[in-house]
Amino acid sequence: MATPTVVLVPVWGIGHFVPMLEAGKRLLARSARPLTITVLVMPEPMSKRASEIAEHIRQEEASGLGIIRFHHLPAVDPPTDHSGIEEYISRYAQLYAPQVKAAVAALTCPVAGVVVDIFCTTLFDAAHELRVPAYVYLITSAAMCALLLRSPALDEELEAEVEFEESEEGGVDVPGLPPVPASCLPTGLENRKIPTYKWFVYNGRRYMEASGIVVNTVAELEPRVLGAIADGQCTRGTRAPSVYTIGPVIPFTPSTGEKAAAHECVRWLDSQPPASVVFLCFGGTGSFTAPQAHEIAHGLERSGHRFLWVLRGQPEPGTKLPTDGNLVELLPAGFLEETKGRGLVWPAKAPQKEILAHAAVGGFVTHCGWNSILESLWHGVPMVPWPLGAEQHYNAFTLVADMGVAVPMEVDRKRNNFVGAGELERALKALMDDGGEAARKVRERAMEMKAACRKAVEEGGSSSVELQRLCEALVVGAVLPTK
Ligand code: UDP
Repeated sequence: MATPTVVLVPVWGIGHFVPMLEAGKRLLARSARPLTITVLVMPEPMSKRASEIAEHIRQEEASGLGIIRFHHLPAVDPPTDHSGIEEYISRYAQLYAPQVKAAVAALTCPVAGVVVDIFCTTLFDAAHELRVPAYVYLITSAAMCALLLRSPALDEELEAEVEFEESEEGGVDVPGLPPVPASCLPTGLENRKIPTYKWFVYNGRRYMEASGIVVNTVAELEPRVLGAIADGQCTRGTRAPSVYTIGPVIPFTPSTGEKAAAHECVRWLDSQPPASVVFLCFGGTGSFTAPQAHEIAHGLERSGHRFLWVLRGQPEPGTKLPTDGNLVELLPAGFLEETKGRGLVWPAKAPQKEILAHAAVGGFVTHCGWNSILESLWHGVPMVPWPLGAEQHYNAFTLVADMGVAVPMEVDRKRNNFVGAGELERALKALMDDGGEAARKVRERAMEMKAACRKAVEEGGSSSVELQRLCEALVVGAVLPTK
């Protein structure tokens, strides 16, 4: 019989595409029986980043292994209007359903599974019609998986016109977590009256049709939530699909053999004492206005701690990606001179993974994207959460209230996630002050999580075992598409 293939359907964004591809590679590396990967590429609606993905594909194809095949789907016009990312992704993916179906139907080998991205369950229909197994891959946490699975019931439990924020309950019940304040829910659940909310719940409901849910987390990071999902507590007693925790899936740039010159940020860190620097970085899209940047500058100055701050400027009108920070416009006069030697402000994308790996870094102020969280824990770096959107407020809550790896900070979600200088100073001192109880606790927990993450991916570790279990399920379930 021909070697079965796993069909991956990632969302076009680089932050989805690359981690999903990496997960595919790990499947190939772990599987006891032969498998191939077929990636269905939905063209990027924003052409600016398409080239980044094209470059990844080119590199992968050039590796000559030939077991990952890329199939480019013909472009369709994206939806012109939408009320949020959940709606946009769901509807855009839905437009691709006929093409996904045709591409899978054309495969001449057995299909082990069609694995769709977080809000792409509209594509399940294509898999069902061809009678091949459908899976979901979450590049985010098990807590997010629990919330998605729980969302249809939460929706029914709340009166039609009432928002979670207006509910009398003492927080939203997500089994396995302490009650979640409504102010910490992902943006998709903020307003029940708009379509994006309905799409969030729609996807959560359709997760129940999956043959399995693959999550980029580690069993030891989120044991209570995973236990609650497995017990059916998130799905009103009904058994949820099998959850496979295969993380942390962190794509590290392969070594070329030649020693590349260290980045300026890394060279600067080389001159700093161990665990003394707080690193501030806000993902691929985080940027600040001058008034907010001034507050950060004052907070850093007053904290007295060493810092490495990635400061990007607001996107150009009509675009979403941050610009390189204009430090003269963004920073208070004299700030760079006054902090010279103990601080570095970097205005462009920085090599975050290398920075977090550096011994001089003692803490991380993060926007709480899940990749950033995993990268921080992989290196045992405790955090201060400064969420800016998407599911980041929810991640921030779990870091503090469930995992205990972060010191909380007051972020004013209603004022564009504003943080004042005084609050940042307080949080930084709590995170970095050696003698402090909070600092000691989060540092210890972060080190425990580092050990857990590293052990998980070793032979016999939890993620390694889960990957094998997933491979086995995929191979056993492989079937030729019914045409
Ligand atoms: N990143 C980086 N340098 C930067 C900002 C981000 O290398 O200056 C990387 C970071 O290491 C992570 C990814 O971009 O791998 C961000 O992913 P995450 O899920 O944390 O956030 P998103 O950008 O999707 O909001």
